[in-house]
Amino acid sequence: MAKLHNLGFPRIGENRQLKFALEHYWQGKIDQQTLQDNAQAIRAKNLKLQQHLDFAQVGDFSFYDHVLDTSFLLGNVPKRADRDGENTLDDYFRLARGQAPGDTSCCGIAAGEMTKWFDTNYHYIVPEFCQQTSFELNADKLIKQINEARAKGFVTKPVILGPVTYLWLGKAKDESNPLHLLDTLLPVYQQLLTKLAKLGIEWVQFDEPALVTDLDNEWLLAYRYAYQYLKERQVKILLTTYFGALASNLPTACQLPVDGIHLDAIKGKADIAQILPQLSEQQVLSLGVIDGRNIWKTELNKVLDFIEPIAEQLGDRLWLAPSCSLLHVPVDLDVENNIPEEVKNWLAFAKQKLNELTVLGKALKFGRESVATELAENTRCLVARTSSALVNNDAVRQAVQQVRAEDSQRQSPYPQRAVLQQSKLKLPRFPTTTIGSFPQTSEIRATRREFKQNKIDLSSYQQKIKTEIKQCIEIQEELQLDVLVHGEAERNDMVEYFGEQLSGFVFSQFGWVQSYGSRCVKPPIIYGDVSRQGSLTLDWTLYAQSLTKKPLKGMLSGPVTILNWSFVRDDQPRSETCQQIALAIRDEVIDLEAAGIGIIQIDEAALREGLPLRKSQWQDYLTWSVNAFKLSANGVQDSTQIHTHMCYSEFNDIIEAIANMDADVITIETSRSDMELLDVFDQFAYPNQIGPGVYDIHTPNIPTVDSIVQLMNSASERIPAERLWLNPDCGLKTRGWQEVTPALENMMAAAQILRQ
Ligand code: GLN
Ligand code: ZN
Repeated sequence: MAKLHNLGFPRIGENRQLKFALEHYWQGKIDQQTLQDNAQAIRAKNLKLQQHLDFAQVGDFSFYDHVLDTSFLLGNVPKRADRDGENTLDDYFRLARGQAPGDTSCCGIAAGEMTKWFDTNYHYIVPEFCQQTSFELNADKLIKQINEARAKGFVTKPVILGPVTYLWLGKAKDESNPLHLLDTLLPVYQQLLTKLAKLGIEWVQFDEPALVTDLDNEWLLAYRYAYQYLKERQVKILLTTYFGALASNLPTACQLPVDGIHLDAIKGKADIAQILPQLSEQQVLSLGVIDGRNIWKTELNKVLDFIEPIAEQLGDRLWLAPSCSLLHVPVDLDVENNIPEEVKNWLAFAKQKLNELTVLGKALKFGRESVATELAENTRCLVARTSSALVNNDAVRQAVQQVRAEDSQRQSPYPQRAVLQQSKLKLPRFPTTTIGSFPQTSEIRATRREFKQNKIDLSSYQQKIKTEIKQCIEIQEELQLDVLVHGEAERNDMVEYFGEQLSGFVFSQFGWVQSYGSRCVKPPIIYGDVSRQGSLTLDWTLYAQSLTKKPLKGMLSGPVTILNWSFVRDDQPRSETCQQIALAIRDEVIDLEAAGIGIIQIDEAALREGLPLRKSQWQDYLTWSVNAFKLSANGVQDSTQIHTHMCYSEFNDIIEAIANMDADVITIETSRSDMELLDVFDQFAYPNQIGPGVYDIHTPNIPTVDSIVQLMNSASERIPAERLWLNPDCGLKTRGWQEVTPALENMMAAAQILRQ
């Protein structure tokens, strides 16, 4: 009967144990053995949670990132990281974050470039290639984990990033084409398969999510070539695709000599009917029927209606799984105490999703009667959700109806606004600013925690935050920055802070999802119509402005980012939810302006990552998302300067949409990829002001004055100097003051040089 399996489980632990162990290790507080012990304990727990499935997943655990793991597995480690000559865990951390414990801040290395994993908020370290790249199998770690699971009696299914997706995710550092490395790479995969076969592994999961993206002929050929090459083997390959439909790549996928294919039955449902007649007699079809990207309960009966006929046809060649790895959802709903019971009934996290899978499996095996209670309870919850008063708010729906086209437009075009703004702000050439947050010290975090736990009252909380704001302003004054910020001490997270104050959102206590390395985010859950109940940022902002004569930049998170970094209701189009959020932010912008704040930044850090994987769907997304940003920003006077900020934005392909946002100033990430991102401005004359991030805040390394001057010089070759700003490439909250102060001092020194 249908086999049940999983594609991957969150690796951070239900209490973010991995995060804390990693950070302690990096700080030199624990040794490597303790770190390894922590990791092993997490893996043991994860295995236990999956014991009802037919396979235990191995290879999904990672100390930082599974793509980086793959680079180490395949022996593709850039020389600069290979300090110890043997690809140790510390080399791994060096490549991940520029440093390993014991390295001093002066002698770190350039961390590997980090970018978004498909359309998720997970970041991977981009594999680096060049013409001479060679590979060498280093499977010890994987094999150790296989043995670890086997010792506990599990039948394991290792997961490995497939060869074509691995190349697809990487970047050539020279002009070479990564595809030319296939011939060098495939023998290593072959060796790996042989090794696994010797261990008696039956099934290996090869993740090939690149198959749901637009692939040209060259890549499709590479698929055929690669899997043909791996045809002689003693293990079975389950080719897994997820995050979308195979669509135009389906004929290729069907031709590959693999033993099974996994489809995302949520986002790629349309593929299923097409693929069924093309399966060979032996091939397994695995259907990802539980949404691995969202936290809503599955409509179990509906899924059964769909899969029962397929099960009839395929028998035990039908497997069931979540749509993708559960890496993208929190671990366990059961530990949540603060989510209202009514809403909690609509939700399922990773552990609950695996239970849903088990129910589906039983229903297929023994009939729906065998799980009648579970199915009835599931239906009851979902019916209650549709009709809940918590979800529907007529006033919000009316406000959305009344939006007019002109609400999204500034009164005058940028050149006119710029004159008015400059006469008001009187900023020097190369104005300097930061992206918003300053170091979130342990004191700040303790203050917020104590307040949350009712250990201190509102007024002493406010007093403490004000003290932080004051210090932050003083430091910025001392540094002589031109546009100051209040520092965001009151914000745990740029989305959570806003969501917590808006209606229609609910927050988990422990619903952490890995973003990169040890960094986790706790996405809000948008379950109902969104509205603003009162001002969101006004008090802190005005307090900060009262402490300085310099312009203070109000700091808001944008509607698209709030949407993209939340778990979004699935009962109406995302564009509609986004518009509701935009109206709430718009009210805040107008309030800030009315209170005398002349510069307002609306962060759209996540605009790009909301892009659909297929180009054919981009325009639609860009139209409604850019419009939502404009709706939130453009209710202001010409003399008010609107900033926006984007991180990791390789936006060469969406630069026109970015320009359409019509922000007066945009700050972007550029430094980690050597200002390569600025190439876009060779072709496209960006009309407004730009602050290309002058140093990478994601590593502890301090930028030199020289490097900043150089980066800015290269920027001013493309953008007129009078439209350039100097700023770090993102918020500073993850850094310590001992890094931030010298870095900003160097940035200010660079500004002096540039001005001269
Ligand atoms: N204003 C935010 C901060 O500085 C922006 C963060 C981000 O872009 N991710 O923290
Ligand atoms: Zn950023």
